[in-house]
Amino acid sequence: MRETIQNVDAAELAKFDALASRWWDAEGEFRPLHEINPLRLDWIRQHVDLSGANVLDIGCGGGILTESMADSGATVTGIDMADGPLAVARLHGIESGADVDYHQTTAEAFAAEQAGRFDVVTCLEMLEHVPSPARIIAAVHDLLRPGGHAFFSTINRNPKSFLMAIVGAEYVLKLLPAGTHEYQKFIRPSELDDWARACGLALKDSIGMHYNPLSREYSLGPGLDVNYLMYYHRPAED
Ligand code: SAH
Repeated sequence: MRETIQNVDAAELAKFDALASRWWDAEGEFRPLHEINPLRLDWIRQHVDLSGANVLDIGCGGGILTESMADSGATVTGIDMADGPLAVARLHGIESGADVDYHQTTAEAFAAEQAGRFDVVTCLEMLEHVPSPARIIAAVHDLLRPGGHAFFSTINRNPKSFLMAIVGAEYVLKLLPAGTHEYQKFIRPSELDDWARACGLALKDSIGMHYNPLSREYSLGPGLDVNYLMYYHRPAED
């Protein structure tokens, strides 16, 4: 049976552990994360000034977004529950000189210790890998200082996203290893927003992430029907 007490799915972590050594190979299994990173970093920076900000990256993996936020002048902490990706993140940070503080912990456990400590919390491409995304979002709220900013990204759940994100990306174009994603765990923007609103986060902006198989390029733009990002604000008083 899958471990759910800690809101961690051991089978999901095992998938990322098995591929950890490939994390920084820009042509390998994590190529899509490398390719989308400048786009999502830009979008975050359009909304918040990362310079001097205290940032937490939840489900940081090998540290692609994490390091890029540190390079943008933020003080960054990265947390993940998988051993392999975290070990790779730490080693890569030593080589690149990126100053990131990594911890193996859950969002919920970290929130119990570090409530209200962060100006910005990012949780990208992770919510669709956990048993209870709602609990992660509530922990994000608690980790933010009042007035802080949260960024989430995940994959919508509808026939088009099944075709594009599973059949297309994993089996036809082979952008990702087969089995990376499970359709039932995809999250509709309305569901994400219900969970966020229930814990007091206010939606500020959202945008779709699109892949053009002909040009083989990603872009951000209207349309949340497959991959998408959401930006939330913890009100100054709540
Ligand atoms: N956020 C990174 C990596 C996404 S891959 C990026 O977008 O570049 C998803 C990551 O979430 C993996 O590293 C996996 O180990 C981690 N993860 C999955 N469930 C988790 C949980 N419950 N707590 C913390 N990390 C988790």
